[in-house]
Amino acid sequence: MSSTTTAQTLRSVSPATQKFLENTQGLRIGAGTDREAEQGATFASIDPTTETILGSIASGSSKDVDAAVAAASAALGSASWGGASAATRAKYLFDLADAVEDHVDQLSELETLDMGKPISQSREDVLAVATVFRYYGGWPTKLEGSVNPVRQPYLGLTQLEPLGVCGAITPWNFPIVMASHKIGPALAAGNTIVLKPAEVSSYSTLYLADLARAVGLPAGVLNIVTGPGRSVGQALVEHPDVAKISFTGSTPVGRGILEAGSRHMKKVNVELGGKTANIVFPDADIDAVVRGSAEAMWENAGQVCVAPTRMFVHDDIYDEVVRLMGQQTAALQIGDPLNPATDIGPVVSSRQYGSVKEYIDIALNEGARLTTGGRLPERTGYFVEPTIFADVNNNMRIAREEVFGPVLSILPFNSEEEVVQMANESAYDLSAAIWTRDISRALTLSRRIHAGTVWVNTSGRLDPAQSFGGYSKSGNSRELGRESVMSYTRSKAVMLDLSV
Ligand code: NAD
Repeated sequence: MSSTTTAQTLRSVSPATQKFLENTQGLRIGAGTDREAEQGATFASIDPTTETILGSIASGSSKDVDAAVAAASAALGSASWGGASAATRAKYLFDLADAVEDHVDQLSELETLDMGKPISQSREDVLAVATVFRYYGGWPTKLEGSVNPVRQPYLGLTQLEPLGVCGAITPWNFPIVMASHKIGPALAAGNTIVLKPAEVSSYSTLYLADLARAVGLPAGVLNIVTGPGRSVGQALVEHPDVAKISFTGSTPVGRGILEAGSRHMKKVNVELGGKTANIVFPDADIDAVVRGSAEAMWENAGQVCVAPTRMFVHDDIYDEVVRLMGQQTAALQIGDPLNPATDIGPVVSSRQYGSVKEYIDIALNEGARLTTGGRLPERTGYFVEPTIFADVNNNMRIAREEVFGPVLSILPFNSEEEVVQMANESAYDLSAAIWTRDISRALTLSRRIHAGTVWVNTSGRLDPAQSFGGYSKSGNSRELGRESVMSYTRSKAVMLDLSV
């Protein structure tokens, strides 16, 4: 599309990234690599570090969703995709993984400019995306059906089929990672996709679609429609030709999508919010606790669904852990996320900034003890100091609600019974972490904690080979691993009468 003149402040990024941002980015639908939205509408993407316009992106409509679903349906029936062998699908995923690695600079710069994530973390995300595609590249050739022990004279077969056109809706906090968690398994199983990224961070997903195109993924297999959730997202959820919706985002929006998707008889997978309980026993390796908890807590300025925001520390080591967490946190470098030495960048948007600021005030009013941070640095950009509240109790709003920013609550506990009860008194059941050298305690507790994922002596670690997800209000599905690729298939029973 044509060049746009925006008041962007491009700091030191590669020429390829600059060029990408200078052009108004269009939708990626079918064979069109860069097409205007149906009514020519666009929206501005804001750089949260400079508070200036980074660039302009096509704002899709329900008609664009119709066009994308039509392209995805056509690709399903095409010889180049629908008729492709499992080995060919595998090769596309392996080639895409290589292309992502080759473009790690551009993809991580786009992520950092678009949503303020420190560049070192954006690079880790992009490299993780390559491992996700490589993992799922191994699956097409391993998806097997079965021959079933039915009575004579019959032969009973179960075959796996793709679902068809899958709709994917992603959040702003891990844009390219979340896209890969949906694209990888969906393509491995032979589906096609229409993906809607979050408005505030769409760039890396658009760039990824261009890489897919460059490695020869057939037209219509991966389509991106950018724009608002209420129009583009909703149109996708309600589209009659979309077989499945895979949504990652907040619990309230996820609930609405589940309801709407069910009305339209779709398979709906939702991955939602979290309030991770991070439980520290006195026999734990305290250095590892502080290092691991701080790393997981302050990543992406706390804007992580599995951030260990509720830290329960045993009375015997409470004061020491509060002090050490404060020390570790005060040493973090806040600043321009493009600087490789930066640990904490801005939060994603002025809206998020206002919301985090409000939670800090709420915590102070509720009587939590501020031990570290709490200020909003006087500089341009949506910066919030990493903030620790001690002596939080489980009824305070910062202990119960998802702040989604750099705010940690530390709560004391005295017994295993007490901590299990407090950890389970939560509106979310996404993940938990337990720090102890006592393996029996770790395994017993991991059974008793209501969470889809439990880490022991670590926090926030994902691996493509291990599925991940929450229970109840934190979601109904699993991403990554075998479970995810299976969730993009359906089985068909075929029965033959061998006596005929
Ligand atoms: P959000 O729910 O506001 O938006 C997520 C996506 O849904 C965006 O693309 C948005 O445009 C779209 N959307 C909004 N309204 C819609 C509607 N009515 N119909 C269809 N689509 C709609 O979430 P967010 O603020 O982008 O992301 C933060 C949330 O995501 C947090 O709650 C976080 O915990 C959660 N999250 C969960 C996981 C997980 O794996 N469980 C991972 C990352 C983020």
